[in-house]
Amino acid sequence: MDRDYNSIIVGAGISGLLSALVLSKHGHKVLVIEKEQEVGGNCNSYEVDGFQVDTGVHAITHLCVGPLKMLMDNYFNYLPVFESYGHYYVRYKNRLVKFPSNLKEFARFDIFPKRDRVAISQSLTRSLTQFTFGSDLSKTPVYNAVPKTISKDCYEFIDTVSYFLSGKSMYETPVERVLMGSDFVCDSTIKEEIEQSLNHISEDSNNDKKDRNSLLPTNVDIPFQFNRDGVPFLFGSLNLLDSISSLSKLATNNVNFCQGYPRGGLKSILNSVLYSLPDNVDIITGEEVNTIFTGNNVVEGVETANGNVYRSDVVVYTGMARDLPRTIDNLPSRYKSKLENIKISKSLTIWLGLSQKMDELNYCGSEVWFKNKPYWAMPTSNYDSSFAPEGKQVVGFSFIMDEYSDTKSNIENAYKTIYNAIPGIENYIEMKHEQITIPEKAAITTTGNFADIKTPIKNLYLAGTDTDRRSMGITRAAYSVVELLKVLGDDGHLI
Ligand SMILES: Cc1cc2nc3c(=O)[nH]c(=O)nc-3n(C[C@H](O)[C@H](O)[C@H](O)COP(=O)(O)OP(=O)(O)OC[C@H]3O[C@@H](n4cnc5c(N)ncnc54)[C@H](O)[C@@H]3O)c2cc1C
Repeated sequence: MDRDYNSIIVGAGISGLLSALVLSKHGHKVLVIEKEQEVGGNCNSYEVDGFQVDTGVHAITHLCVGPLKMLMDNYFNYLPVFESYGHYYVRYKNRLVKFPSNLKEFARFDIFPKRDRVAISQSLTRSLTQFTFGSDLSKTPVYNAVPKTISKDCYEFIDTVSYFLSGKSMYETPVERVLMGSDFVCDSTIKEEIEQSLNHISEDSNNDKKDRNSLLPTNVDIPFQFNRDGVPFLFGSLNLLDSISSLSKLATNNVNFCQGYPRGGLKSILNSVLYSLPDNVDIITGEEVNTIFTGNNVVEGVETANGNVYRSDVVVYTGMARDLPRTIDNLPSRYKSKLENIKISKSLTIWLGLSQKMDELNYCGSEVWFKNKPYWAMPTSNYDSSFAPEGKQVVGFSFIMDEYSDTKSNIENAYKTIYNAIPGIENYIEMKHEQITIPEKAAITTTGNFADIKTPIKNLYLAGTDTDRRSMGITRAAYSVVELLKVLGDDGHLI
């Protein structure tokens, strides 16, 4: 049978585009199919009434040694530049308190009584010691590890941290997630995996920039960032963290280390990938893949809702794994029920354009509100004043949506929370914008599943944040793409 492409990628979020980038640099002729009119999925920025907003508030993590750094170093022609992230704060009784990133700081975290701090420090040290010595804490809920003597405030705080790390409450979030997500435990580095895959890159695949402006939202025409040969990357060398043990990190760690915010906004990451794509990648937008077809249990291609058929040797699906059965008939029922058991959470982000800069929001980084309806907020124009008209400010507030309430009440409660947390902010609002999104395609819970990169259909693969438990968000998406590369290499698909 004639093939149109070596590989087809379903979905042009960051996972799909990174997959297209690496496969094309291994010599594949690649087709990316995106159902929306624009590429980027949850990784983008756009303009609303003169203010630039991102798709949710974002901190990009693991930039020193993580998978995104590995992919950027080895596959990107153009690199995003990261501003140092700043600090995490807790907003408490009209003041901002620095978020503790180690036990030393936690001891001084005086928003909780001393006995709470001692009890939490002890349980954290105990959990980390157990984890370091090999205990499996992936099924132990955070609630079980929390001392039952602590104050209500302290409980609410731990619940909030759980929500932001996994999208679920402390009853469903595993202890392991808190240890990994808070950076006390370093994710395993993937240098060897990448190096193995790199052997396959063809010399001439580093083509010059293509003109991809037509695919970008109209406001995404900022020049791509810096050529990797020209400008040193902001963050330090590899192996910097290797020698630091988890326990000593718990005592002295600085979690802000190796985190950044992309200069120019989230779209800069997207742009860097798009401009790094060689000519052997085609992208189609506005077409939904509704059928993945097979012959003898081997993938053969896809059909879109418009009736277009595209054939290829390999299909990488980066939509929600639990939706995969909608596109393909002959999946085994055990596999389907595993996919059905993937848990997700929904987020609501409210962006406010303010008519003037507020003293209460005069910081770089983000703040957490942990009372009532918790939020995570970032005044992004503090990194780049061009995100707001002169003298004005833009700030995003991300909430986990309460699955038991309807959208309208979620939104109403979110506004009430903001007005309560930052009194007077409502007097400066001149732009309001709401986004409802699924931050990660699988929440890490004590009971939920993750999909594998491999599927029961030969040459049909999955990638994205429901195929890898490590880290979070864009870093997790990058982990999945590195893993995909390894699997494709093992299966003999890398040219
Ligand atoms: C509020 C919020 C805050 C976040 N904060 C952070 C953070 O601080 N740090 C961080 O690293 N990450 C963060 N993230 C997560 C990060 O943005 C996402 O994990 C990442 O962008 C997901 O990329 P993806 O490509 O896997 O999925 P998506 O962005 O969901 O992309 C999937 C794409 O596939 C397309 N698609 C699906 N099915 C089909 C089909 N059948 N046919 C064609 N196309 C299809 C979709 O339209 C979509 O464009 C946050 C996300 C949100 C929403």
